[in-house]
Amino acid sequence: MARLDHKILLITGDQLSLNLSALRAVEPAHTHILLAEVVPEATTAKHHKKKIVLVFSAMRHFAEELRRAGWNVDYVTLDDPENSQSLSGEVKRAMTRHQADTAVMTAPNDYRLRGELAFVEQLEDNRFFSSEAEFRSFAETHKNLRMEFFYRALRQKTGLLMENGQPVGGRWNYDTENRKPAKSAASFVPPPRFEPNVITREVIDLVKARFDDHYGLLEPFWFGVTRSDTQAAFESFLKNALPHFGVTQDAMLENEYFLNHSMISLYLNLGLLDARMICKAAEAAYLSGDAPLESVEGFIRQILGWREYVRGVYWMKMPDYLSSNFLKADVPIPDFYWSGDTDLNCVSQALRQTHDEAYAHHIQRLMITGNFALLAGINPFQVHEWYHAVYADAFEWVEAPNTIGMALHADGGLMGSKPYAASANYINKMSNYCKACRYDPKQRLGPEACPFNAMYWNFIGKHQDVFSHNLRMGQIVNAYRKFSADEKQAIANQANGFIGRLKPY
Ligand code: FAD
Ligand code: SF4
Repeated sequence: MARLDHKILLITGDQLSLNLSALRAVEPAHTHILLAEVVPEATTAKHHKKKIVLVFSAMRHFAEELRRAGWNVDYVTLDDPENSQSLSGEVKRAMTRHQADTAVMTAPNDYRLRGELAFVEQLEDNRFFSSEAEFRSFAETHKNLRMEFFYRALRQKTGLLMENGQPVGGRWNYDTENRKPAKSAASFVPPPRFEPNVITREVIDLVKARFDDHYGLLEPFWFGVTRSDTQAAFESFLKNALPHFGVTQDAMLENEYFLNHSMISLYLNLGLLDARMICKAAEAAYLSGDAPLESVEGFIRQILGWREYVRGVYWMKMPDYLSSNFLKADVPIPDFYWSGDTDLNCVSQALRQTHDEAYAHHIQRLMITGNFALLAGINPFQVHEWYHAVYADAFEWVEAPNTIGMALHADGGLMGSKPYAASANYINKMSNYCKACRYDPKQRLGPEACPFNAMYWNFIGKHQDVFSHNLRMGQIVNAYRKFSADEKQAIANQANGFIGRLKPY
């Protein structure tokens, strides 16, 4: 017989926050918390080995943290012979085990899981600055669904970097002061590395045994897996990198994996770091004179603006969003995305660090691997599957809008007013990759020409009718239209010849 008022509280691997709405809503004496490692969560997208270690180890540490705080916790390991290998199955087993009459959780931030766990009471996720309903009502009342306007509304709502109802410094956005090309002489302090403890070592062994065929380098594993590790990682960023964040935000340098990026997305997305605390701490660094406004505003905009905005887009547009293909891109994803085997130096650099560290910074994701896929016309769903699998911070709600919308323009311009398409000129300006490349960034045609150039103009030509209606693309379409018929043909031959030789995965 069910025990009246006894509940199972399910916590998923990306809900490792002590202030979770579901934890606040229940009585500890009448609740059993359930955390479960199940195979589909590691294999539905075949995740990078380091990411699986990160999530399972962080879950195991969180279970300890909850027990220390006095909660009853059931932790089901992957190898438990009774494990049903589905979250819904584990909730049902726990309900039977503890004779609980109900199950509750904070709503999963994943479309598939929300459906699978529909029988569990789902509470609003309180870890975001805005609710899904708030985003929907913003979308209903704004013809132009650009991130910038949503970000401004959230600045007003939260008071972050606001003074008497106005943005601090008189402007909302300091991008014009930011985003300078890379200077190789600059020195960077990399994120701190954490030695695996006994718990993490056990998970590393588990991943070796069970997921050895997954993508990526497993060891050395050095990510933070506890709240104190991740707090230390963030404090290191605040002290060493935030003051220079803005200026190097778009820069790329050979063998410099992190530059002044924070490398906190993986911790934020798991719930080990709290977005409100992060933004407040960055604001405090500005107020105390430890970091300039342009860096702090740029950083806060990524979290308060982009991160909230993409979540809103995901929940407003799912489930159809994943099959968006506005530009009818149908080239299969090339094998080199997985193998790393390419002589394009910029792509090879981004892929090597993705393979080794499950990390590439935003401009590598957007303007190197994303830009390549956009120009080559690679199928958006396959590109989404790749990004979802290879990055430690990849969860569908944040990955899919960034890939399908921002990088591939496959949503027809909902996320970006123009495609982020660029030739070698941009990559050469913002990085030092081209210096060591076998291709020439200045040539458009011929065996030495950088493939990004012909692919760029071919892309403009192929979609000129669509882009000519776009105010921000008109000039570039006109430039293409001024090429002679012979030049256009030579560009198409060069680009299509290159794309045709790509070995499909
Ligand atoms: P920083 O440059 O230090 O930025 C600070 C924080 O701002 C990040 O930690 C992140 O939480 C947030 N942020 C910055 N840009 C974005 C953005 N566009 N959308 C949402 N949050 C943002 N981010 C993910 O968290 N998971 C993903 O799976 C993911 N996939 C992406 C795929 C593509 C094609 C692109 C173009 C971007 C993707 N991003 C994703 C956004 C961004 O690239 C990463 O958040 C960032 O690179 C993480 O590194 P960082 O912590 O050093 O970021
Ligand atoms: Fe990349 Fe082209 Fe530069 Fe080579 S020349 S690094 S392929 S942009």
